[in-house]
Amino acid sequence: MLKLASKVGGQKCSPIFISHLKLKYMGSVIDYIECPNCKTEATSDFYYKTGEEYINCGNCGYHYSATIKNRNKKLNELTDEDWEIRELKHPYAAYRIKSYESIATECGSLESEEQLNELKHEVSKLDTIEYCSVSRFVNGEIVVEEIIDNGPKTDSAGFTEQDR
Ligand SMILES: [Zn+2]
Repeated sequence: MLKLASKVGGQKCSPIFISHLKLKYMGSVIDYIECPNCKTEATSDFYYKTGEEYINCGNCGYHYSATIKNRNKKLNELTDEDWEIRELKHPYAAYRIKSYESIATECGSLESEEQLNELKHEVSKLDTIEYCSVSRFVNGEIVVEEIIDNGPKTDSAGFTEQDR
């Protein structure tokens, strides 16, 4: 079954692979770079204490991560084998999910059409989803597909759907 990315606070997007380890080493620099796949803006999240890096593109789903596998070693004792490099060079899509229960929007990458279908199936079963969309890079263009758009339960003036 498809695992949705873990939720992180704020506006930051987390790749599908991110683990809880990230919490241990807070302090990162967020930068905007050109996505190697679709050439639009991607985010680079660089952890200056450890040298770990995550690159994510919310438009095509490109993902790159360089993380430390062995956390028992000191940083200056790490060799190439202690690092895990992951790259999703040819992503199928990027997804975005906002649920009513969370203030954060969840983002991640899909590797195949099969995963997209699973995602659609999963979110269709939930009644807590406010918004869900996928974005793909197809024939040189970014194509966004809205899967669910229920709108906020309370609007900016504090009215609920029933009041309006
Ligand atoms: Zn991209």
